[in-house]
Amino acid sequence: MIISMRLHATREEIDGVRARIEEFGYRVHSIDGEERVVIGVVGVGDVTACLESLEAMPGVDRAVRISAPYKFVSLEFRPTKTEITVGDVTIGGDEFVMMAGPCSVESERQILESAEIVARGGAKILRGGAFKPRTSPYDFQGLELEGLKLLDKARRVTGLKIITEVMSDRDVDMVAEYADILQIGARNMQNFSLLKTLGKCGRPILLKRGMSSTVKELLMSAEYVVAHGNPQVMLCERGIRTFETVTRNTCDIAAVAALNELTHLPVILDPSHATGKRSLVPALARAGVAIGADGLIVEMHPHPEKAVSDGAQSLDPKQFAQMMRDLQPYIELWKSSRVKETASAV
Ligand code: PEP
Ligand code: MN
Repeated sequence: MIISMRLHATREEIDGVRARIEEFGYRVHSIDGEERVVIGVVGVGDVTACLESLEAMPGVDRAVRISAPYKFVSLEFRPTKTEITVGDVTIGGDEFVMMAGPCSVESERQILESAEIVARGGAKILRGGAFKPRTSPYDFQGLELEGLKLLDKARRVTGLKIITEVMSDRDVDMVAEYADILQIGARNMQNFSLLKTLGKCGRPILLKRGMSSTVKELLMSAEYVVAHGNPQVMLCERGIRTFETVTRNTCDIAAVAALNELTHLPVILDPSHATGKRSLVPALARAGVAIGADGLIVEMHPHPEKAVSDGAQSLDPKQFAQMMRDLQPYIELWKSSRVKETASAV
């Protein structure tokens, strides 16, 4: 923190500020200028409380934070990307990782069929919600435990890893028993008791950006999980809410590049929820590869017209296979630039 005193602040005011800083457990480095005193504050503690307190003190002009409030997840803290390994799949390494499957787990037949289709297309991870965060309480809420068991069956049949959403801290243990990766949905990005519980769940987390959240708030939420003991977090851009109505959400594609400058955590793009329209998904998927995401999470349904949720944005099996083929040259370029980045980071 840097505390800039007002012009001609009195010695008493300056000493008061120094004393307050020390009460918070920080060390003081002051620079006496001709007219203005600037105080540098170093140490570890509750920066927000300290800043708020100092700003309210007589003689203080401005109090500003210098280092990022998200410490563990920042690129300064760890300059090389976090690699998250689930079985034979590594996210954040030199493979571009595809996660795909239906929005919701609906039946045994539907999830097994989906798993086979996405595996054939080259996906390594099967998505499917057993707990669904629906805007209306009258909409399908998910098969819950039965859905988790069906995902487990699909894993055994295909060898795919499983990602599925957990909505409540009450369900974390149950979902962690079945899932390889726990998904935290946009609506729960700032559910702080859930985030704290995830710190102890022993599974990697995919944390989706809240629909009205900033990139920094996303990083602060990731910091919760890491600070509570779980460093295996990946972030997901899934579009934010704006005045635009042509797409379901507005994909903040630059957030992927911005996150890569700010954090070492892997970044995943969800082109399905970002657009809400299956016709737009392949183009946005290409953009995700090009801009340096570590992977994609895409909705695919064997019969989108029969889907109980998000049918309009789900690719059908042919479209999924086509998208995967079309992405190949982009993924090759992605791989060669990733090798160069890794070499220059070493
Ligand atoms: C989902 O992945 O189906 C979902 C509900 O996503 P989001 O939380 O991004 O809306
Ligand atoms: Mn969905």
